Amino acid sequence: MPQKVISIRPESRTPGPKGPRYDGGPLADKLGRSLRDLRISVTDRCNFRCVYCMPREVFGNDYKFLPHAAILSFEEIARLAAVFVGLGVKKIRLTGGEPLLRKDLPRLIEMLAPLGADLTLTTNGSTLVKHARALKDAGLERLTVSLDSLDEATFRAMNDADFPVAKVLGGIAAAAAAGFSPVKINMVVKRGVNDHQVVEAARYWRDSGHILRFIEYMDVGSTNGWRMDDVIPSAEVLRRIGEAFPLEPAEANYAGEVAARWRYTDGAGEIGVISSVTRAFCRDCNRMRLSTEGALFTCLFAQQGHDLKALLREGGSDDDIRDRIAAVWRLRDDRYSEIRTAQTARLPKVEMSYIGG
Ligand code: SAM
Ligand code: SF4
Ligand code: SF4
Repeated sequence: MPQKVISIRPESRTPGPKGPRYDGGPLADKLGRSLRDLRISVTDRCNFRCVYCMPREVFGNDYKFLPHAAILSFEEIARLAAVFVGLGVKKIRLTGGEPLLRKDLPRLIEMLAPLGADLTLTTNGSTLVKHARALKDAGLERLTVSLDSLDEATFRAMNDADFPVAKVLGGIAAAAAAGFSPVKINMVVKRGVNDHQVVEAARYWRDSGHILRFIEYMDVGSTNGWRMDDVIPSAEVLRRIGEAFPLEPAEANYAGEVAARWRYTDGAGEIGVISSVTRAFCRDCNRMRLSTEGALFTCLFAQQGHDLKALLREGGSDDDIRDRIAAVWRLRDDRYSEIRTAQTARLPKVEMSYIGG
């Protein structure tokens, strides 16, 4: 049973610290980490109810999502993104909720593409057949699609929306045809639910040109009833796959890459493992998150955000916004995954669908 809901959205938001004017120098947080990566949640809504993310018992028919007036407009997102790029952000990921539910998303992509950051999007793939071409034409560079199982019953049990595997596979094929190649495929592994599908998934995606990534089930939010016992450590995933298809480690593409890369020794491509629970990577964490309603979060497990929307809507200049973001980053000392315990896992935290996965 999920735990009692404590906090889906933060109850209050701080305006954020007021620091000195940003002087243009290198921007480092308290642990010496620089700001490189921005995740933007474009909607808190989703057409799936994945058991590890938006359990139906909490996100039921009467759940109140954010009203339109509360969420950032495309113009507001683009303005903030430009300030972030000015502060050194090199990669922007659009996420949610399900980002493709946000109406007219390619228009936002057209607005962000000229900023020059690496532009990518994570989707459940449910509507990709319809959207893949427009996303590519608008300037999206890369795409990650979540698919937790190729087995019909297992997938439906995980998405809890009776959504069929074939439609997501069709979406991935449409993405490849539109020029997204390789597509990254995310698979969250939950013990006793889909872990029996790990080797099958590896077998299916080997030699496809796409890159399958296994994600350890995390204690994000307060609603999914997370228990350490439900986590399959990446080491176990690698062992199971390695027994069927030998693997060897591959070099990281860049410092701070979230997924550790492994390649098949027979040349059939690579996989990634994201070990946020068993091998925390906070030391290199260079990510900030912007929630659907314009609150800034310095960690996926944060309890509170900093309200950039108020600053925007009260007439703050780009310099004011830049100074606020810089002051927030300079005070950042988050390293939740490194200090996770059974107690911290029970702390109130904002939901991933709100903050952006
Ligand atoms: N709706 C889109 C999707 O599912 O791809 C984007 C948002 S979703 C929150 C982003 C990623 O977070 C997905 O790959 C999802 O599987 C992953 N995710 C969600 N809850 C998780 C959890 N408790 N542990 C690990 N990964 C999780
Ligand atoms: Fe929706 Fe993605 Fe969360 Fe699943 S993981 S409920 S698809 S936001
Ligand atoms: Fe970054 Fe927080 Fe995750 Fe650590 S726990 S890697 S600081 S988002």
